[in-house]
This record gives sequence, structure tokens and C-alpha cells, in this order.
Amino acid sequence: MPASVIFDADLAEHHTFGISVRSRALMVVDSVAALANAYQAEAWRALPKLVVGGGSNLLFTEDFDGLVILNRIAGREVSESADHFHLHLGAGENWHEVVAWSLESGMPGLENLALIPGTVGAAPVQNIGAYGVELADFCEYVDYWDCESAERVRLSAEQCHFGYRESVFKAGLKGRAVVVAVGLKLSKHWQPKLGYGPLSALGVDTTPQAIFDEVCRVRASKLPDPSALGNAGSFFKNPVISETLFSHLQQGHPQIPSYPAGEGQIKVPAGWLIDNAGLKGYQVGDAAVHTEQALVLVNRDKASSAEVTALARHVVATVSERYGIELEPEVRILDAQGKAGW
Ligand SMILES: Cc1cc2nc3c(=O)[nH]c(=O)nc-3n(C[C@H](O)[C@H](O)[C@H](O)COP(=O)(O)OP(=O)(O)OC[C@H]3O[C@@H](n4cnc5c(N)ncnc54)[C@H](O)[C@@H]3O)c2cc1C
Repeated sequence: MPASVIFDADLAEHHTFGISVRSRALMVVDSVAALANAYQAEAWRALPKLVVGGGSNLLFTEDFDGLVILNRIAGREVSESADHFHLHLGAGENWHEVVAWSLESGMPGLENLALIPGTVGAAPVQNIGAYGVELADFCEYVDYWDCESAERVRLSAEQCHFGYRESVFKAGLKGRAVVVAVGLKLSKHWQPKLGYGPLSALGVDTTPQAIFDEVCRVRASKLPDPSALGNAGSFFKNPVISETLFSHLQQGHPQIPSYPAGEGQIKVPAGWLIDNAGLKGYQVGDAAVHTEQALVLVNRDKASSAEVTALARHVVATVSERYGIELEPEVRILDAQGKAGW
């Protein structure tokens, strides 16, 4: 069936900031063949293209002068080996629904990653993570459509070069690879991962379902629901700084939290830096630093992209001035051509 196309589409309902921007055209694809057609058909060939899943990690600064491709490729297949369940998932599947389904089906492991908005296909792009766990811990392979060679390619997890909110899909393959399926490997010898925050109180005899429920409860209490208050989750990455800079900062701010991040490196929560700089609730027009969680920038009602970017710049400048740390956006900030720009 030919993919459906909407011209001059309003993208407000296709990204969780809920800001009204338009794209020249919008196409929903539910198969690799439809995706290939979007890249190869004469009508679309010259246009910039942007693949969107749930739109939960995006900020458009301008109308998008191209074709938005909504990835809705479905599919959940399970196979088994002696020690693992192997999941082959279509890229358009909803991530949280997959997590809930895997638990219900007796295949635990993903519970720490519950309630992360978005699609399976976007999960490897920034190597989603929460509560001490990241996609890389379970990823076996990623299948992508190569827009340049017009081929389907499989990368092993190692070839994906996963890092903190990083992967080859944000680096060497940026703009070239559309993820069409993800292979996950879940151990049959489940162990709870309780190292982060409130999960440690659950105790080692806990169950996957109890962890899932606790993660959902804590996230719902801390993070704004995008359907009620537009946002894209953590707006900035947690900065990784040298031990030397950290010791220096600690002298002026003895209460600064930290996590080890490899040899000589320390990760500092960006939310703490923003909060401690007195920016919680700070507003530019209708864009604001969330009052409950300073790492999240929200659209209080009718914020424009310009207001959100002005707010983000103010946060970056204030944190830099106060701590000598340059915050980097975690959210993809896109200009009219789909290029990073703010
Ligand atoms: C309330 C809230 C909480 C969040 N919490 C977390 C969290 O705890 N941890 C975390 O890691 N993230 C979190 N996020 C961010 C977001 O959920 C993830 O980044 C998620 O993976 C984005 O999925 P998506 O389908 O919405 O991607 P989109 O926003 O649609 O796209 C994000 C980027 O990936 C690209 N992309 C999308 N699909 C594909 C594909 N199939 N192939 C290639 N490129 C693709 C897009 O072009 C874009 O550049 C949160 C967001 C919100 C709103």
C-alpha cells in the first residue's frame, strides 16, 4: 500500500514539546519498502528528510523545509538460546509498551528503562538510559536502511559504538542510517539492578515487576507528562568533567553530587547545577525551567521555539559563568534543513 502523505503538515502533535511548526510534507511508513520509496521516489529525492519516532527528543527551531517520515514499522519476534531470550523488534514499536510486554511475557531485564517515551528505532540513536541501565546493556544488533547505498545493513552492538547518549547513528552514520529493527538479548538468569537512587530501597529479593512499578512511580512523580506539559525530557546531558575541576568546584560547593565516569573523570548532574544556580522556574515567555526537575525545559502553554532556545542559552551561559562547565543539549535541536542549529 502506498504510504499516506500530508502536505504542509502541522508537527505539533508529532513532537512532545507540542510547539506548532510545519513541515513541507509528512509521510507515515510502516515497512522498509515504504521507507525505501520515500528516499528513492523522484517526488521526494531532492528534499531534506527527517525520520521521527515519538518526537520526544526533538526541538524544531523553524518550519522543516522537507519530508518528515514517521516511522511506524511494527513487529515483535522472540527466539531462545540456552541462556537468553532474543527479541527482534520493529523500529516503530513504542518503547515503553515493549518493556511492559517483555515483562508480562516472562522476559525480564528492561524494567529500569520503563516509561521512556518514544520508539524502539530511536533507542539506539542516543543509547537511551535510566536508573543505571542503558540500551547498550541489552542490544545484540541494529538493522538500518542505508539511504546512500539503498541497502539494509546489520550492525553488531559493538559496531554501534555506544557511549553516554551517543552512538554511531549520531556520528559517522548521522543522516544516512534509518533504524528499521533492533535485536535485544535478555538473560534468563535475571539479576536486579538497584544501584541508582530510590531503587536500592527495594532490596535484592525484589521482582522485575516491583522495579518496573517503582521506576514508573518515581518517573511519574518527577517528570512532567508531555501530554499535559510540553517537554522533551532532559534538555541537557550530564557533563563529564575532570577530577581536577571537580575538586576545585567541591571547595565552593561541598554538597555537589557526583558519579564516577571512568579514569580521572566525574559525571555531575546537570539538573543540580541548574537548580543550584537558582534557575528552577526561570521563564522566557512561555518557556520555563521545570519547577520540579531543573533538567527539563517545558512549554507552559504557547511557547515558541525562539523562547525555548533563548531559555536554553540563558541556562548554558549561567551555568558556564558560575561553574566553568559548558552544558551540551541532549535534545536534538533542528533547523529548517534538519541540521543541528540553535
Ligand atoms: C518525559 C520524557 C522523559 C525522558 N526520559 C528519558 C530517559 O530517562 N532516558 C533517555 O535516554 N531519554 C529520555 N527521554 C528522551 C527520549 O524519550 C529518547 O531520546 C527516545 O529514544 C526518543 O525516541 P523518539 O522515538 O521519540 O525519537 P524522536 O524524538 O522522534 O527522534 C530523536 C532523534 O532520533 C532520530 N530517529 C528517530 N527514529 C529514528 C530511526 N528509526 N532511525 C534513525 N534515526 C531515528 C530522529 O531523527 C531524531 O534525530 C525522555 C523524553 C521525555 C519527553
